[in-house]
Amino acid sequence: MTTPSYIIAGNWKMNKTPQESIDFISALQEKLILNHKTSKDSASFNTVEVLIISPFTSLYPVKSISSQVKIGAQNLFYEEKGAYTGEISPLMLKGIADYVLIGHSERRQIFKEDDISINKKIKTALKHEFNPILCVGETLEERESGNTFSKIENQLTADLDGLTVQEIQKLVIAYEPIWAIGTGKNATPDQAQEVHEFIGNFLIEKLNSKNFSDNSKTPLILYGGSVTPQNSFDLLSKKNIKGVLVGGSSLKIDDFFDIIMNCYKVAMD
Ligand code: PEP
Repeated sequence: MTTPSYIIAGNWKMNKTPQESIDFISALQEKLILNHKTSKDSASFNTVEVLIISPFTSLYPVKSISSQVKIGAQNLFYEEKGAYTGEISPLMLKGIADYVLIGHSERRQIFKEDDISINKKIKTALKHEFNPILCVGETLEERESGNTFSKIENQLTADLDGLTVQEIQKLVIAYEPIWAIGTGKNATPDQAQEVHEFIGNFLIEKLNSKNFSDNSKTPLILYGGSVTPQNSFDLLSKKNIKGVLVGGSSLKIDDFFDIIMNCYKVAMD
């Protein structure tokens, strides 16, 4: 698959040992293969990319068994080597991770990552040919004070600073309202769609300002924040929602599988 139309990504955060990761991915792949064999609609399978963003310690073992799923890392450092205790270099991830998550709100809030380092990480990820997934989103306070769009615009402006058209095209953006992450309170499909449309327009304007006229290849925009099997179909049915980034529900194989199935249903229409 070259360019997927949808991405279903599971962010495992600081969960699962290497063995638990291998067991999960093996079982998930068996379920996917069985479904592909028995389902009448095979066209949609090729348009949906399934991605597991595992802890660093699981990346190497799961890469060698993954055929149906892509593998992602939860972070990377912008330097290639040196005295950076505890960091992971892009060279260490090369050939193992397909995607790299950058700027997750937990990295921004708990580990104080700022937009300057996030911008450097995106550039490093692109230089080393990873697909970066950049996370942006507002706090509850920012939403309630009417600052959702300005927050997102400020983050995107700083995080994408200095990127070329071709580099921007390689990104995936995840809209993750911070008040919805791990809270059980997802954005409604309409709330999410409104922000996705805003992000889509921002990206098109940014690309056009660089004398780019082909709008057919713009970054996919995923929604993240308390996605479940129950709410995923309605979220994914929205025009500008091109996948989901799933935390808690990606730790349970049946829930994650059901979310993938809902995406196949949407992709079929
Ligand atoms: C996340 O970790 O990016 C996330 C969206 O988590 P959850 O699905 O648990 O809200």
